[in-house]
Amino acid sequence: MAQKVKKPELVAPGGNFEKLKLAYDNGADAVYVGGPVFGLRKYSDNFSLTELKHAIHYANSINKKMYIVLNGFARNTDLEKLKHHLDELEVLQPHAFIISDLGVLSLTKEHTTVPIHLSTQASVTNQHTVNFWKEYGVKRLVLARECSLDDCSMIRRETGVEIETFIHGAMCASYSGKCVISNYTSGRDSNRGGCIQTCRHKFDVIKDDKTLFSSHIMNAKDLNGADLVPEFLKSGIDALKIEGRMKSNFYVANTLRVYRKLIDDYDVSIGMKEELNGPSNRSFERGGLSERPSGDSISYDFNGYLKTNMYVGLVKKVIKDQGIWIQVKTEIKKGESLTFLNKNKCSSLTLDSFSSISGMPLEKTKPDSFIQIPFSSDVSVNDVVVSSLLN
Ligand code: SF4
Repeated sequence: MAQKVKKPELVAPGGNFEKLKLAYDNGADAVYVGGPVFGLRKYSDNFSLTELKHAIHYANSINKKMYIVLNGFARNTDLEKLKHHLDELEVLQPHAFIISDLGVLSLTKEHTTVPIHLSTQASVTNQHTVNFWKEYGVKRLVLARECSLDDCSMIRRETGVEIETFIHGAMCASYSGKCVISNYTSGRDSNRGGCIQTCRHKFDVIKDDKTLFSSHIMNAKDLNGADLVPEFLKSGIDALKIEGRMKSNFYVANTLRVYRKLIDDYDVSIGMKEELNGPSNRSFERGGLSERPSGDSISYDFNGYLKTNMYVGLVKKVIKDQGIWIQVKTEIKKGESLTFLNKNKCSSLTLDSFSSISGMPLEKTKPDSFIQIPFSSDVSVNDVVVSSLLN
């Protein structure tokens, strides 16, 4: 008898409204975003209250979910502002809040009726802790990144609580994101969204004034659980999460479309998984999903980000039989080959001719400009446009 398979919810990062739409367009079931405060990504775009309202309305209109991240660790001086913010958010009714701090959680229960998901920052690694949070009214737990797929599956089975697990994105050397390296080296607080990624640097090991070696000793490779999707589908885990609220449009669209296919088709070709190499990455490993991470999880000889494709821009307008408007983020030249990606397809064309929006022929583009190319029925609005770096 075929083994029972349950499709997990695919949860995507939404660094801004454009990325939120791209995530939904490319197959996300839910998107998590940071609001104006307590979202742990101080330097991403984050959403204003008005943008949150529009985003929730948009998610509801397409029958998807939107979660708001409130996973900073609050200080006493934050509490009045937080209470006021929670009252504002209660009116908006997002589909859940993602919270780490017990005090924030208890205030949220006092001020709102919105379901609560416990953040991975809360470092939950066993079923007794899950049961504690269950009794406290938490609907879903994003388990600590230190948990393996088997740990997550067993906890799901034993507790009956909704479980969410990270499957793709950046990892770091801290325990569930708790780290003060950035605080000490730059004065920016990792636990309040200010991490400056000091751990990624090359460090010298010095003895008696002599440098013994230099290495990126804490530079964790990125998590990639694509190979494990068939196992996840059998695991009973309720949701799979993609990391990366500060990542590019290309990363969001590409990662979502690949995992959407992997989940929907259950088992797909190596080629689809290789597409995850497109956006910049620090090379991949499975984190702690299969076994405890070891030295293989660190990119000691890091020589810069890897990528097979360059993000070119987004299709903003398709005028039938006339032309296609692309918002271009980088320089491209006549004769280059471009690939257009969306959830359903991936098509390529050679840029034989293109012009400015006003019709002036161009040989190359300026970054951050609009160009017009001839109409193609293979291209749709919001397609992500990339060029290959492999030639
Ligand atoms: S400094 Fe490095 S280990 Fe610490 S939180 Fe930032 S990315 Fe993680």
